[in-house]
Amino acid sequence: MTNAITVDLEDWYQGVGIPVSEWGRYEKRLRIGFDKLMNLFEKHNTKATFFILGKVIEDHPDIIQEVIDAGHEIGCHGYSHLELFYMNKEEFDKEISYCKELIKLFDKEYIGYRAPYFSIDARSLWAIDVLKTHNFQYDSSIFPGDSKRTGIPGFRRDIHKLENNLIEVPLSTFKIGKMDFALGGAYFRLLPYKYFAKKLSQVNKTRPGIFYIHPWELDPKHPYLSSLSRRRRLPHYWFLDKTEKKMDQFLSDGEFVPLIDIVKNKINE
Ligand SMILES: [Zn+2]
Repeated sequence: MTNAITVDLEDWYQGVGIPVSEWGRYEKRLRIGFDKLMNLFEKHNTKATFFILGKVIEDHPDIIQEVIDAGHEIGCHGYSHLELFYMNKEEFDKEISYCKELIKLFDKEYIGYRAPYFSIDARSLWAIDVLKTHNFQYDSSIFPGDSKRTGIPGFRRDIHKLENNLIEVPLSTFKIGKMDFALGGAYFRLLPYKYFAKKLSQVNKTRPGIFYIHPWELDPKHPYLSSLSRRRRLPHYWFLDKTEKKMDQFLSDGEFVPLIDIVKNKINE
């Protein structure tokens, strides 16, 4: 079974609840984790999907060009990294329009979208129609289950067409006891590798795995923010020093493609 690798391309301080207006105070370190990740992709001859934060396009045009030149797929991750359920339709529409303008500078267009924190849930389902009006072809923003922060318990876990014809590619989730876990991020760092691999093979009995990671997860020396709430802080810093090696193992054990390779048959259906 072929699985998809996705990268949410953002710096270490951009996905921890700090507002975009304060990002200027923090040390830009995206390059450190990004280079490690790109080296691993090159070593294993792997192409991934990069969901790019708009602010990253402004701050690191060199990195965006490298992603494109290496032949990875690019997708949109919004601009401010604010949960969609804290935005209204007009604010979201404005962010998406701006992100599309930014990527045009690279002669590129987006096909896929991923919401910050997988924040399309019952409170923000309106976003699906906004994406459609902007000609996105697929969305990969729904956590089928309860992540405590977001998620839609009982939501379909397979890739499927929504009512408005947008393709939904839910993140791969699985149960451990009563808790919902996902294929990537802090869950990848927390679970022992062999156990994680076993969970992926269980997912693969019925569907491709949709895996996600961030470059900062390969940068264990990024600053420690003691001011974050415990709920945000603990998972953010779990086992960061192990990620690079674990990722190396993961990429050598399986076959991975960008999301578009898995979604394109559905789009043409
Ligand atoms: Zn993100």
